[in-house]
Amino acid sequence: MKNCLFCKIANQEIPSEIVYENDDILAFNDINPQSPVHVLIIPKTHISSLNQIDHSNSEVVLSVFEAIPLIAKKMGIFESGYRVVSNCGVDGMQSVDHVHFHVLGKRLMNWPPG
Ligand code: 5GP
Ligand code: ZN
Repeated sequence: MKNCLFCKIANQEIPSEIVYENDDILAFNDINPQSPVHVLIIPKTHISSLNQIDHSNSEVVLSVFEAIPLIAKKMGIFESGYRVVSNCGVDGMQSVDHVHFHVLGKRLMNWPPG
C-alpha cells in the first residue's frame, strides 16, 4: 500500500530496529516506547486494522501469535510477563492504519489501562 508507514517499514524503505522477521511478519522496536520493551509486530502485507481480519487473511494473525513467545524470549520478558495490545479505530486510538500488535514489557502494567 502506497504511503503506508508500516508497509514502508515492512519493505525496509524506512529503517527500523528489527527484532524478529519471517516471511509473513516483521517485529521492530517502537520509536516512542511506552515501556522498556516495546516491540511492534506487523504483517508484511497491508491490512488496515483488526476490523479487516477475516478468514482470507487470518493466517497472519497465527504467525504473529506464534512469534510472540520467540520475541518475548529474545527481549528477556518470557518469564517476567508482558502485555499484547492492538488498538483499533478512533476509540482504540489507532494512529497507524496498518494492523499491528504492541508487545510491552519490563515494567508492571496498569490495569485497567488509562
Ligand atoms: P497505534 O497508536 O496505532 O496503536 O501505534 C502506532 C505505534 O507506532 C506508536 O506506538 C508509535 O510510537 C509507533 N510509530 C509511529 N511511527 C513510527 C516509526 O516511524 N517507526 C517506529 N519504529 N515506530 C513508529
Ligand atoms: Zn500498510
